[in-house]
Amino acid sequence: MTVETTAPTDGLTPDAAVRLYVDNAARAVGLEDDVAQVLGSSYREVTVQVPLRRDDGSLLVAQGYRVQHNGARGPYKGGLRYHPEADLDEVRALASLMTWKTALLDLPFGGAKGGLQVDPRHLSERELQTLTRKFALSLSHVLGVYRDIPAPDVNTNAQVMAWFMDAYSGRHGYSPAAVTGKPIDLGGAPGREAATGRGLVYVLEAAARRWGWDLAGRRVVVQGFGNVGTWAARDLEALGARVVAVSDIGGGVFNDNGLDVSRLIETVAAGGSVVDSDTPHTKLSNDEVLTLDCDILVPAALGGCITGANAADIRASLVVEGANHPVSPAADEILADRGVRVIPDILANGGGVTGSYFEWTQNIQQFQWKEDRFNTELRDRLDRAFNDVAEYSESHECTYRLASYSIALERVARAVRLRGYV
Ligand code: GLU
Repeated sequence: MTVETTAPTDGLTPDAAVRLYVDNAARAVGLEDDVAQVLGSSYREVTVQVPLRRDDGSLLVAQGYRVQHNGARGPYKGGLRYHPEADLDEVRALASLMTWKTALLDLPFGGAKGGLQVDPRHLSERELQTLTRKFALSLSHVLGVYRDIPAPDVNTNAQVMAWFMDAYSGRHGYSPAAVTGKPIDLGGAPGREAATGRGLVYVLEAAARRWGWDLAGRRVVVQGFGNVGTWAARDLEALGARVVAVSDIGGGVFNDNGLDVSRLIETVAAGGSVVDSDTPHTKLSNDEVLTLDCDILVPAALGGCITGANAADIRASLVVEGANHPVSPAADEILADRGVRVIPDILANGGGVTGSYFEWTQNIQQFQWKEDRFNTELRDRLDRAFNDVAEYSESHECTYRLASYSIALERVARAVRLRGYV
């Protein structure tokens, strides 16, 4: 079995990059050494072997991970990612990001992440289901409604969560609250699927109000056209913004007058790439999409796409991180020096886990909210988090990233101290 590992970005692995952001905030808030030591590593890291007999009779042995970074503020929470580069270092970084994200959103959760090192594009539906069930069973002893609650992430969706929940429930009894991001028919919350991309737009609307911006007519570029990118593009277009370019794994499409987002979504929903869409466009490479002239750039694919090598070429005035850790620390400094604002991942994409929190509470109460209540509560939480960050950034004269991490770190540190961990 060959296990790919993520290539470092600007010489840093994903975990080292996130650690640098945390260390900067730890210095800024004067975090005590004992608490820093606890927050500097994961509570638990589980590596499992997930063998699969493939449809053609061959054997695939996938590596799976669940990293529980910190649970001082509540049960571990975070998604499951199926990707060849979802190695232990990447999953560790993503678990730590979840600790800061849930704290910044003031949700009663800690942070975790799971990864299965496979490329689901090469798996049949039966293979995907079998792998998911085996993965769920191999992790089930460290999961649970009040222990650790998985959710969708890159290349996983409501159907995968349904299989995961069913396998878990088969062993532990009916447990819809043990997994979020489920189909509505199985206890999923209306609004959850849209919540990450929609939440990103709520954050942007809060920013626009605070900065006196008008989102109508703004030129937007969305890199990555999965769950987050499609919902963000759709909602931004509805607000009158002009989505001039989007990209996915197949390449990028550009139209200076604005692309037709719903036609792009139709193509992608039918299994195609945005480059197959019949919305009028010219084709661009993924790299060209990132450096297009625009007002708002939404990286919504994988980590490490804006680096020391291309940060000087970014022409957006605002970067909103739909993906987790899309901007390397070196790039972050370059962008800050150039006056490009960045709304960091732990704020910008926090709508997903906030929606998961609503789903979890509803499952525990065996009650279902209507979608408009879900969206009202989502907007309210994200507005509050955005304003906390903006105020902190103004009073401490620091970037939104440093402000976000500082607020989160102080909250988690208080919980660590109160629990008597140190
Ligand atoms: N995978 C999403 C994230 O990175 C959502 C996690 C969740 O809902 O638990 O925030």
